[in-house]
Amino acid sequence: MSDALDTPRARDGRAPDVFRPGGWVPMRCYADDEEVDFAIVGTGAGGGTLAYKLAIAGFRVVAFDAGPFWRPLEDFASDEEEQQKLYWSDERITGGDDPIELGSNNSGKGVGGSTVHFTMLALRARPEWLKSRTQLGYGVDWPVNATEMTRYYREAEEMLQVAGPLSYPWDPSRPRYPRRPHELNAPATVLARGCDRMGIPWSPTPIATLSSPRDLAHPCVYRGFCVIGCSTNAKQSVLVTWIPRAIEAGAEVRDLATVGRIEVSPGGRATGVHYHRSGRWRFQRARHVVVAGYSIETPRLLLNSACPQFPDGLANRSGMVGKCLMVHANNGVFGEMEEEIRWYKGPPSLAITEHWNYTDVGKDFHGGYLFGSQGPLIQGWAQTLATTTGVWGMRLRDQMTRYNHMAGFKMVGEVEPQERNRVELDDEVDALGLKIPRVTFGYSENDKRLIAHAVRFMRDTLEAADGRNLMIQEDTAHLMGGCRMGFSPSDSVTDGDGRTWDIPNLWICDGSLFPTGTGVNPSLTIMAVACRIGDRIVASARCGELDVRARTPAPLSG
Ligand SMILES: Cc1cc2nc3c(=O)[nH]c(=O)nc-3n(C[C@H](O)[C@H](O)[C@H](O)COP(=O)(O)OP(=O)(O)OC[C@H]3O[C@@H](n4cnc5c(N)ncnc54)[C@H](O)[C@@H]3O)c2cc1C
Ligand code: SF4
Repeated sequence: MSDALDTPRARDGRAPDVFRPGGWVPMRCYADDEEVDFAIVGTGAGGGTLAYKLAIAGFRVVAFDAGPFWRPLEDFASDEEEQQKLYWSDERITGGDDPIELGSNNSGKGVGGSTVHFTMLALRARPEWLKSRTQLGYGVDWPVNATEMTRYYREAEEMLQVAGPLSYPWDPSRPRYPRRPHELNAPATVLARGCDRMGIPWSPTPIATLSSPRDLAHPCVYRGFCVIGCSTNAKQSVLVTWIPRAIEAGAEVRDLATVGRIEVSPGGRATGVHYHRSGRWRFQRARHVVVAGYSIETPRLLLNSACPQFPDGLANRSGMVGKCLMVHANNGVFGEMEEEIRWYKGPPSLAITEHWNYTDVGKDFHGGYLFGSQGPLIQGWAQTLATTTGVWGMRLRDQMTRYNHMAGFKMVGEVEPQERNRVELDDEVDALGLKIPRVTFGYSENDKRLIAHAVRFMRDTLEAADGRNLMIQEDTAHLMGGCRMGFSPSDSVTDGDGRTWDIPNLWICDGSLFPTGTGVNPSLTIMAVACRIGDRIVASARCGELDVRARTPAPLSG
């Protein structure tokens, strides 16, 4: 077992060099009583991206993460059991009509956040979804503009060096992806065959793993261990992209540092964060605090920071902190193929169709979904079989002998924002004495119709591709919402810049900001939103609107 879980690695003026075994890079360090410009809580898709944007602009930044600072080349094993160490598996209570399974499939704990074990699909949201209320008649509008988002999507795709097709069927006007697409693996060809026979378009998946070398990182070697962490650095997670560049630009990253409370002055401004590291509580002074702990930990921290000025939790005058939590419906359809597939080879999803994201005709629901080819690892597949069909013992063993002949699809389906789906605090406390989150979730009638449509269509497509003995799995993936951004302090937690309505120097920058779920995997959008928030902060500082002591901010990107 690695020391990364016991002892902070990023300290004393250096941080792990993720590209060189045993190597270190210099890192600027701040004293607790030195008032930094920004304390960022969480270093995943939102926090890691923003740390870079703010550091490169000259701000003094400290980014905290409750989890370790992994060295992928040394710490990651090709072993599903060992790699459980990547997940946020702290105690949480989950309930409601359709309780969400929490852990490996939706939350990570470590520098780089959930992207350390994400499956790398790098997709833009359909532009109309950002104005779904006014343009499509459902959900709520985002307080950002789709045209403006285009350049931030591009910035994120460049940082991740996304490998994608020359022409992506659902966004033909977009420029070329930074790198060429990956070859299709066998499960991807099953999806392609099925879609061709159903008469709908499909595409190689735009994906954030290298299709050619990038500095010290090798291209993908198609071993397929992506969901348990990539030990070759081909995967362009936040840990190997935004974070090293943020450190180089002057940010400090503090690993194994759990923020337990945000301090607020009697005048109602955030003054810093209380964090636990190396066995004791400490306090970092900061002019601004950004919360980027994802859809459960962000509301939890705001609620746990309740104080006399804000008895219901920080930034919660609207009562919206923790509300409108969303997932993606992630149901799957699997079947046996005559030919050998070996679906574990390569990134799990190398072909997708977004047909039902962009076609609204013939739907008995609003919203959309995509589905992609799949390649579960062996332990994960045994678990799916056991929990979905109830097989065990010799019957499970027999079914596992068909593993190399299996193929299947999983959906990423938009789920409505509903206030009853929420994160609250329970009375139970964790090892640090912090109240644990209680999560309540249930699908709406619209969600159920969307899922039924997707399952039916995936089943027909797999049958069209010659799949037999089909099996259906119910599942969810990703988290979104919980601290949504919006147009008004009465029904949202922040404005479009991620700045909380109630506390002017408290910001949010992660997936919890999503007003609606969209029908695509969320991290590219989280990064694009973070890039935009970074630029908006720089612009405000230039106008003298922000209390910061940075060097002259650098020019805006784009
Ligand atoms: C198995 C899996 C596959 C996925 N596949 C894809 C995919 O293919 N494409 C895609 O777009 N998305 C995918 N996702 C989703 C994507 O990874 C997340 O949506 C995204 O990383 C969320 O970004 P975030 O910044 O909101 O949170 P995270 O990236 O989860 O980062 C939050 C960080 O905050 C830290 N933190 C939380 N609370 C505290 C605290 N109090 N103190 C200090 N630190 C704290 C956590 O340790 C964590 O590191 C996948 C996720 C999983 C789990
Ligand atoms: S398949 Fe590629 S991205 Fe996935 S773990 Fe292997 S090298 Fe990394």
